[in-house]
Amino acid sequence: MLVWFRNDIRIHDNPALDYALKHGVTEAVFLATPKQWRQHNQGKIKIDFLLRHVQLLAKQLAQLNIKLTIINVDDFAGQVSYIQQWQAQHKQTVVANSEVEINERNRDTDLINSKCAIKLFESDVIVAKGKVLNLSGSMYKVFTPFKKAWLKRVQAISFDYIPRYSNSSNTLDDFSGGDLQAVAKIINDLKTEYQTMNSEHWPLADAVEQQTIPTFLQDKIGDYKQHRDMPAIKATSGLSPYLAIGAISVRYLMRLLIQRFPDLLISTDSPNFTWLNELIWRDFYRHLLFHFPRLCCSENFNHKYDQLPWPNNQQHFIAWQQGKTGYPLVDAAMRQLNQTGWMHNRLRMVVASYLTKHLLVDWRLGEKYFSERLIDVDLAANNGGWQWSAGTGCDAQPYFRVFNPITQSQRFDPKGDFIRKYLPELKHIPDKHIHFPHDFIKKSDSRCYWPAIVDHKTARLRALEFYKTYS
Ligand code: FAD
Repeated sequence: MLVWFRNDIRIHDNPALDYALKHGVTEAVFLATPKQWRQHNQGKIKIDFLLRHVQLLAKQLAQLNIKLTIINVDDFAGQVSYIQQWQAQHKQTVVANSEVEINERNRDTDLINSKCAIKLFESDVIVAKGKVLNLSGSMYKVFTPFKKAWLKRVQAISFDYIPRYSNSSNTLDDFSGGDLQAVAKIINDLKTEYQTMNSEHWPLADAVEQQTIPTFLQDKIGDYKQHRDMPAIKATSGLSPYLAIGAISVRYLMRLLIQRFPDLLISTDSPNFTWLNELIWRDFYRHLLFHFPRLCCSENFNHKYDQLPWPNNQQHFIAWQQGKTGYPLVDAAMRQLNQTGWMHNRLRMVVASYLTKHLLVDWRLGEKYFSERLIDVDLAANNGGWQWSAGTGCDAQPYFRVFNPITQSQRFDPKGDFIRKYLPELKHIPDKHIHFPHDFIKKSDSRCYWPAIVDHKTARLRALEFYKTYS
């Protein structure tokens, strides 16, 4: 049997691997697709992070006596050919965990249609996709009723969790180092080909499992509700890059949560529930993609907005990308993204609202830019976040919510600590002017910051008019 690793780069809670181990695994494979990654706008830092984890996986599988072969097949068509040839040669089943995105689903359908013996499992959500439906049997289009139904469902099922395999009698010394050296070489070649950006600031998932997750659940989750919106405080888990490549299982997190807080599912007002709520958002967007695969094709969720003639001012778009809009919170956030490959959730909402509402730039351009830069890019969450922000998606409050970048800054970065970290040129600006320093700068005659590219009030009115007229 062949275990084909795709977006599930882990040996814990991996149903495809579990099945293979129970039925006689012979080989494991990771089929790298640099051409496809480029077509899917996967960023250089994300691919570096992914490849580091593939290398870790090779070591972990070696300890289970399983050899991981890594092959560069360029794209999904290359994957299909490889799997077909492997099966023709070995006459054995291939097992893998399903992926929710449309091209990935089409690839698997091609394999199934070609009579390939492939067995698929589901490992990317807490509650299975297709199992949280309204009374008429359809997917919810708004989060809150989905959440209520999700909670009922999760209470009713005891979701399986497959523990980490270990073979304590094996150590890496038992293996000819040659296999792992070959892995290291192909990983390096792939990194060079993709010109990856170093992601080592983010530790590998095994260290995160041992340190970050226990510390978060023990010391930080209680304050999550209070601090989660403050970008200057490290109050969130930082697990999104690991969840995005499947290096950590979301069901494993759920299991830890329930073990630690047995009443969690019924005490929805507790601070700890606030964090679970984010995992439910994650499930929600993945369920949406499952039911509405057209979301992978850049379509508005709500077709009412299909006629919006986005002006897409190129200079404004570039100013936004470079963090030169003249709104400190927006600019600091964009610099955080450009420098680190990650951005705080509150800031993702602020900059996405600013791009679409203040600058009237199409959300698809913002989504693509995020995809190229984020270490944690995940189509479901990225698309969901952008469409929510642009007002074209699943939201009870559509286009008329226009975040004010100055009041957001006053509320969530009151002393300007986050702003000063990424905009050191504003270090000398007093706290009360840091959120919009232009009057102060004019008076003090220090030209340290560029002017605001649009006026907030005017831009807000223009956005409301734009959406009203064309929807
Ligand atoms: P925590 O606050 O610790 O939350 C735990 C986990 O819950 C996260 O790791 C993530 O997997 C999930 N989660 C949290 N918030 C959301 C949310 N709003 N939607 C879906 N899942 C959520 N998240 C991604 O993982 N990849 C993306 O490409 C992505 N793009 C986004 C684009 C926009 C415009 C917006 C507004 C949000 C986006 N998010 C994305 C959601 C969110 O910003 C990140 O998941 C979060 O900032 C990750 O930080 P954390 O791991 O510390 O999260």
